[in-house]
Amino acid sequence: SLEVPPVTQIVNKRHRYISPIVSLSYKQPIHMASAAFQYMYDTSGNTYLDAYNNIPHVGHSHPVVVNAGQQQMATLNTNTRYLYHQLADYAEKLLDKFPPSLNKVYFVNSGSAASDLAIRIAKIHTGQEKIMVLEHGYHGHTQTATDISDYKFNNPKGQGQKEYILKTGIPDTYRGIYKNDDGSAGIHYAEHAIELLKNTHTPIAAFISEPISGCGGQIPLAKGYLKTLYPEIRKQGGICICDEVQTGFGRLGDYFWGFEAHDVVPDMVVIGKPIANGHPMGAVICTDEIANSFGKGVEFFSSFGGNPVSCAIALSVLQVIEEEKLQENAKIVGKYYTSLFRKLQEKYRCIGDVRGSGLFLGIEIVHPQNQEPDTLLANHIKNHLRNRHILISTDGPYDNVLKTKPPLCFSKENAAEVVENIAEILQAYYKNVNKTNAF
Ligand code: PMP
Repeated sequence: SLEVPPVTQIVNKRHRYISPIVSLSYKQPIHMASAAFQYMYDTSGNTYLDAYNNIPHVGHSHPVVVNAGQQQMATLNTNTRYLYHQLADYAEKLLDKFPPSLNKVYFVNSGSAASDLAIRIAKIHTGQEKIMVLEHGYHGHTQTATDISDYKFNNPKGQGQKEYILKTGIPDTYRGIYKNDDGSAGIHYAEHAIELLKNTHTPIAAFISEPISGCGGQIPLAKGYLKTLYPEIRKQGGICICDEVQTGFGRLGDYFWGFEAHDVVPDMVVIGKPIANGHPMGAVICTDEIANSFGKGVEFFSSFGGNPVSCAIALSVLQVIEEEKLQENAKIVGKYYTSLFRKLQEKYRCIGDVRGSGLFLGIEIVHPQNQEPDTLLANHIKNHLRNRHILISTDGPYDNVLKTKPPLCFSKENAAEVVENIAEILQAYYKNVNKTNAF
């Protein structure tokens, strides 16, 4: 009889107790043992280049971050009803990274909890219920976060669009109707959203979007879109919320926050994932005015939100970003990485689009003859990269966009390794396709 490999045993046990609704990456899942910086190691001793994970922002198991957590955990961990200096210290450092109007912060334990809280605060502040969201958007897994996430509610297995949700089309200059990203497309897309607002007779509480739609397939919102739309939202009395869970903390290279690329300042910002390099944390940042409305209501308390350990870890993440000039690295390596993908695009017309900023890129895989999404090829590339010990992912409504958003310590050599391997995979793929065609 065949010996059952340990991976199969672990998968079976996991499915037995948790169920496959908690999905696994890859046809052949990897049993991870440890990780350091931009590398992950499996239990068989293989090293994987991590070109995918954006949560370990400054690098997996970064010693400065680990040490900060260990020291604080061994000293004091408690809740916000006791006084400890780490909470206000970190809040001050974090808010230093925002424009002056964004000067209050509430801490929670995930991006989902942050989105959920942001919507609650927006409803309290405005006294309104309606929320405008973007097509393909994702903001988290709580009931409210799912309600505002087209990616989830619009799934055939999802709960459907709730009555309080207004959905507007994604301003996508690759697949959308307006393609000219000189600012004109952004204005046209915004006009559609404004029209939708006008046709809705009750004012909205908020509009929420990412600056680059991650789950939507790494789609940078068309230039000028937010700049045209935000004032109209505000005219209605609504709040402009920017979800920076994926795009924040210098990943985009040129900018610390994604909204800066759009030349806007939101009224509220939602952050998570990289904030504490993998330790569960999220936050909502807002203006004084909004904080004042929220402050008139019931007490805000989260058992773990902003605890001393989370604050110590998050503070160390900001320190490492600065000390190791990781935003600068994201900019330099990101430009190089993009240029390599563009070179590959010249050779392979299945690469329909190369987009994103810094170390937050999307490579859209298409059928060259008609630019239709090529989901199979995108997944072929992802799985073959896995077999070559390189981690990336696919996403977007057609699951045909290769996503790469590595830890910010990613090097030019790492970037070259990913692109060279994709080139080899494509070369082999087309060799086989041609052989098949020859028969
Ligand atoms: N917002 C965005 C843009 C996200 O990508 C995610 C997670 N993928 C969330 C919110 C939710 O964060 P979490 O998984 O930490 O709850």
